[in-house]
Amino acid sequence: MVKFVASSKNLLKGLSSVFKHLFRNAVTEEYPEVKPELNENFRGKHTLNNNCTACGLCKKVCPANAISIKKDGNNKLVSYKIDYGKCIFCGNCVYYCPNKSIQHTTEFELAITAEQKDDLISELKQEEKNGRN
Ligand code: SF4
Ligand code: SF4
Repeated sequence: MVKFVASSKNLLKGLSSVFKHLFRNAVTEEYPEVKPELNENFRGKHTLNNNCTACGLCKKVCPANAISIKKDGNNKLVSYKIDYGKCIFCGNCVYYCPNKSIQHTTEFELAITAEQKDDLISELKQEEKNGRN
């Protein structure tokens, strides 16, 4: 009998907790159907603008060794790649770039179309202007 009373009390306690929360607004988001609102300083995928002089400073300060830069004989940028399988989104490349050429965006769904690790290597195309300049 004592056991029955105790378990009924616990059941009522549980049910009251369920009903208390039943009509409140959800605190979670229905991701991926509903995209989260991200802060403008969010460190997502990068963009590169055409001020890049291929100086290589971003590559030097990258703790994850995620950046690879190819230059031609005239030191002009040929290709700029970031391996998002390695990048830890620390922001060093953005912070130290002397020309504000590399910037973060709010794009973060990087793995959705990747089937292999190498698919996370992204070649950045130089744009006239990028996001946060
Ligand atoms: S992005 Fe900036 S730091 Fe990196 S190579 Fe270009 S100019 Fe240099
Ligand atoms: S955000 Fe950090 S880890 Fe990612 S490429 Fe830039 S310096 Fe490297």
